[in-house]
Amino acid sequence: MYSTIIRLVNDTHPLPDEHNAAGLISLYSLTDRAFYLPPSNMLLNCDAAGALNDMCRAAGEEGGFECIITDAYRTRDQQEKKYLADLSRSTARPGCSEHETGLAVDIISTDISQTKKLSKYLRDNCHRFGYIYRYPRGREMITHMVEHTEHFRYVGVEAAGIMYEKGLTLEEYHDPSIVRPNPMEPAFIFMSIFGPRMKGHWQNWPDIDLNELKLLNPDVVGWIYMERTPIDYPVLFHREFPGYYLSHNFSDEPSAHGGIEMLDVPKDGIYILSGHHMKDFSMFMKLIEIHDERTFDVHPVISFDYEGTIYEATWFAAIIKEYSDRIPLPEGEGAEARREWLKRLKEISFATNDIIPDEKDKILICSTCTRLLDGEQVLYGVMRERQSVP
Ligand SMILES: [Zn+2]
Repeated sequence: MYSTIIRLVNDTHPLPDEHNAAGLISLYSLTDRAFYLPPSNMLLNCDAAGALNDMCRAAGEEGGFECIITDAYRTRDQQEKKYLADLSRSTARPGCSEHETGLAVDIISTDISQTKKLSKYLRDNCHRFGYIYRYPRGREMITHMVEHTEHFRYVGVEAAGIMYEKGLTLEEYHDPSIVRPNPMEPAFIFMSIFGPRMKGHWQNWPDIDLNELKLLNPDVVGWIYMERTPIDYPVLFHREFPGYYLSHNFSDEPSAHGGIEMLDVPKDGIYILSGHHMKDFSMFMKLIEIHDERTFDVHPVISFDYEGTIYEATWFAAIIKEYSDRIPLPEGEGAEARREWLKRLKEISFATNDIIPDEKDKILICSTCTRLLDGEQVLYGVMRERQSVP
């Protein structure tokens, strides 16, 4: 039992498909409950549930807080539904959520104005009850999660005490060789600026089976993914109506978010994708953070699985164009036209770097509307086939 309660579950340590959470009980079954519950049934590991009750009682007695448990155990199916429905990607991928272990809870205050103070109280005291504050600020590059003030994980009193004393995350507890990132690293600085607004998890390249997705929607042609952003979506292609998936989602329902759409059949190794720029940071919103060389460095690569071949595209040009202007493409066929086009893109790009594709390279084009800049931002990346999938 000991080894299961400290189990590490994150984007690189998913639970197996056949995972069964052990010893679940209904939180409603606890007599003398010291917390509130929503009407839906909520399950939690029995040890974690007893400790949770003690912790919430202490929060009441010592801090005057009233706790509500807003989430506890989730089945794989529930996690999958939550993930697919949450386009801002603040939900962990199916299999990668601690909620599937039955050892994690989300706790807030009945009085919303007290929620921050309650979180602080729990952060300082949860180890006494065997819980840890799982996703602290400043460790995003280790946990691959932005701070979640409501999320607490049961690991037992012994492990929780060690992690509290030494200030360790669960990742560091399991692997003491993990090096904390240098706070001067561009990615770290970027995280501290955008982190609180960037709800999405820091995933790794997902384990996608396009054939399985095609059973749900035959218009799926690929998957697009950019690290440390919510960009982690199927790519859709409507043969008859280009633009269809900018107003319809993966499930073919009308949607303001739409999907990520491939606008045309790839020609001469040029792939054009388009997605909206949503206020909740979803779809292609994060692309507009690429606005100078520095941000080229922070999101240098976008990964694209097209019909089973995985490419990594490195940005080499970025432009803003008027809505009514066409996306700059080669004028004519042949190597000469191609070279001219690539040269021109480097000239008109508002961002610069040393990458110069040659005329044989495949090119990925990603465009998103941006009211902020009053036009459309178009990014160009040179595609390299990925050698091996880690
Ligand atoms: Zn949670």
